[in-house]
Amino acid sequence: MKAVIAFFLILTLAPSSEAQVRGGRPAPQPDRYVLIHAGTLLAVPGKKAQKEKTIVVINDRIGRIEQGFVSADAVNAPAGSVVEIIDLSDHFVLPGLMDSHVHLRGEPSRSRRRTERGDRADPTAAQMAVNAMIYARRNLAAGFTSVRDVGSNDESVFAARDAINRGRMIGPRILVSGSALAVTGGHGDGIPMLTTGDPAARLAEGTCDGPIECRKAVRYNYKLGADLIKFTSTGGFGSNTGLDPQLFADEIQAIVETAHLLGMKATTHAYSAISIKEAIRAGVDSIEHGFLLDDEAIRMMKEQGVFLVPTLSAAYPPPIFNIPNPESVRIRNEWRAFERAHAAGVKIAFGTDAGTFKHGTNAKEFDFMVEFGMSPMDAIRSATIVTAELFGINDEAGTLEPGKLADLIAVTGDPLQDIGALHDIDFVMKSGKVAKQSGKMTEPFTYD
Ligand SMILES: [Zn+2]
Repeated sequence: MKAVIAFFLILTLAPSSEAQVRGGRPAPQPDRYVLIHAGTLLAVPGKKAQKEKTIVVINDRIGRIEQGFVSADAVNAPAGSVVEIIDLSDHFVLPGLMDSHVHLRGEPSRSRRRTERGDRADPTAAQMAVNAMIYARRNLAAGFTSVRDVGSNDESVFAARDAINRGRMIGPRILVSGSALAVTGGHGDGIPMLTTGDPAARLAEGTCDGPIECRKAVRYNYKLGADLIKFTSTGGFGSNTGLDPQLFADEIQAIVETAHLLGMKATTHAYSAISIKEAIRAGVDSIEHGFLLDDEAIRMMKEQGVFLVPTLSAAYPPPIFNIPNPESVRIRNEWRAFERAHAAGVKIAFGTDAGTFKHGTNAKEFDFMVEFGMSPMDAIRSATIVTAELFGINDEAGTLEPGKLADLIAVTGDPLQDIGALHDIDFVMKSGKVAKQSGKMTEPFTYD
């Protein structure tokens, strides 16, 4: 199904001298109106979807939403404006999706398997920067207009984020943590033995021991331009370090307090309930994975408004790894933390751990959420409104309402009936710019 675009120029002539370059100053840009004819519109996930609406996008934001399919003449755009119509009258339109847990600089591949066997050197920073650009675009193509990169121990993702923010490349809005902070020998400590004592290497890798070093590691990431802080309180499946606590309470407190002092949110990779509760006591904003949540931890999360980022997809290792009966699946199914937290009313932010599996297949998380008892509407609400709240961008995104950024997607099926419809994203608009049309990505670069 093709989304047809028609262009109109509002021909009531603007005073031409105003529009010319004058005194060396560039002429003001005309307003760009995009009228999106939405067959079905889920403007605010959690509320009912509506039929036959026109979303009036003005430049990068939603101006208003009108009943019926409004024509270019009827929209009353100011003289000189460009008006464009996008026909999504046989589509289901909803806010852009958000993923709280991705790793943009890599993904499993046969070459990475070779790396793990020691046949091949780690990818270089340059290779990871190219990966970050490509995988960011692939997340956008999958309908994710905002993502949070929670752990990349080089500056590749910062570079991708900055290129997108400056408009040089169309990609998702990226919140970046920089290196995930870990203790010596902990999950996420990648420093080679010989350089373990080198202070510069420790900071670059985000390795810290004791409150003083951990404060410094937070400040270092902040100085690099981090939007948030991620730390690993327990071991993890990926590093073979078990699932038990690795940080002392004073280290957790130092990290969370320093992040908050600098206006950043703090999130922790945590499996063991002891570490989860220690992090909640310290004021952490979200728990990543949380597979071993106990009832007390669930109660504390609910009371203090701490988000769970379930990463159900991450429990299932990609087939490429060929691991029979993975431990992660057994533990997930035994503890059912997602189901119990959801039933207790804990806020569930959508997060996948894409990068530990193929980028762009993030929507499989929706399948797990629905399979484990969440309604399709709540799963969509999780990936929009709830995650926007965790990101701290709910004034700007998460719903389609006047004044918000025009981040929206369209599918041909009805995801409220069949959540699988979100695997096939036909149309993506990010900040008022069309990024995907009739299933194909548009030109990525400005070449500025
Ligand atoms: Zn992760």
